[in-house]
Amino acid sequence: MSTAPTPAPAPASPQAGGRASMKKELPERFRNHRHVWVVVELERGEVHPVSWELLGEGRKLADRLGVELAGVVMGPPTEATRRAAGEAFCYGADLVYLAEHPVLAQYRTEAYARALTDICESYKPEILLLGATTLGRDLAGAVATTLLTGLTADCTELAVDQDGSLAATRPTFGGSLLCTIYTLNFRPQMATVRPRVFALPPRVEKPVGRIVLHTVQFAEEDIVTKVLDFVPDALTAKSQLAYADVVVAGGMGLQQQENFQLVKQLAATLGAEYGGSRPLVQKGWIPADRQIGQTGKTIRPRVYIAAGISGAIQHRVGVEGADLIVAINTDPNAPIYDFAHVGIVADAVQILPALTRAFTRRLS
Ligand code: FAD
Repeated sequence: MSTAPTPAPAPASPQAGGRASMKKELPERFRNHRHVWVVVELERGEVHPVSWELLGEGRKLADRLGVELAGVVMGPPTEATRRAAGEAFCYGADLVYLAEHPVLAQYRTEAYARALTDICESYKPEILLLGATTLGRDLAGAVATTLLTGLTADCTELAVDQDGSLAATRPTFGGSLLCTIYTLNFRPQMATVRPRVFALPPRVEKPVGRIVLHTVQFAEEDIVTKVLDFVPDALTAKSQLAYADVVVAGGMGLQQQENFQLVKQLAATLGAEYGGSRPLVQKGWIPADRQIGQTGKTIRPRVYIAAGISGAIQHRVGVEGADLIVAINTDPNAPIYDFAHVGIVADAVQILPALTRAFTRRLS
């Protein structure tokens, strides 16, 4: 693996084509690796939407390379697994590798890593993308290890450079640099991307596509870990921050923990989700799963209202996909005004209740 750090005070496009060629002859055993693959994350019958976001981005990479885009669907032999395979075509896949077996009913690292490793060794992808979810991060790390290849985690941009290599860009050194990472001499080139970093592509009805059935070569007795029960985490189940249409967030400009209620009240009035900047999590004002930014959630709402948030780069990378950003900040030179669409230079502690009153009147 090779890294090429690039100074980046603000997010920038990866310098595809901007580096001197580092490519050596690809070892013989990797020369027949082709095509871009996306793992369709299926858990208890539900597909994680990051899978469709990655198929949208994978389509661009595959078109640039002139190769096919494949989805990989692994799960139990159920209607939901088949439906997930069919949906992959609607989000741009040319074909789907489908592994159905009761041993894949519940996610377990060993079973899924074995199945995905087998599929990769059988059909040899050039690029393999997974969501940077809890499941995707676990599976990607395990499979990169079994395949002895390179993995770039939590990418913010993906591109194909002049050599046809995957240029995987991610923040480094605490977000002060963006680093473009290449896996030049191993295949597949693996990357994970967090939910909402890429936009959801439009769903296009496409009832037929090629399905390659892959036979799982192991049985339940071969897997050491057993799932005895599944207990949903009430906190995680409640927060829909990443996929909310409207998000209201607060930062240190709120000055006191009690003032965060003003954020929650406006969010409740708008039917929105609430979140905050990292220092609020560190101070215990909000739970960690409400943090927005590079080390929290990436969001893409239609409207984002940021109250008392400076707009540091680590926060900015998590919110700049929002359609409309409204910033409330007393400092007219705050960095958030560099990327907000609407700025209110005022005290958030006064403006938030005024907005809540105004929307309550308007919406009642
Ligand atoms: P401050 O920087 O203290 O800004 C407060 C703002 O409020 C100021 O702009 C001020 O002008 C304004 N203000 C003050 N009083 C008022 C008022 N009465 N009304 C309105 N405005 C007012 N941060 C994140 O948010 N998310 C991340 O995921 C994240 N990840 C990080 C990862 C790393 C490795 C590192 C090093 C940092 C990370 N950070 C992250 C922290 C980030 O660098 C900033 O420190 C943080 O975002 C600042 O939070 P803030 O804007 O709430 O606070």
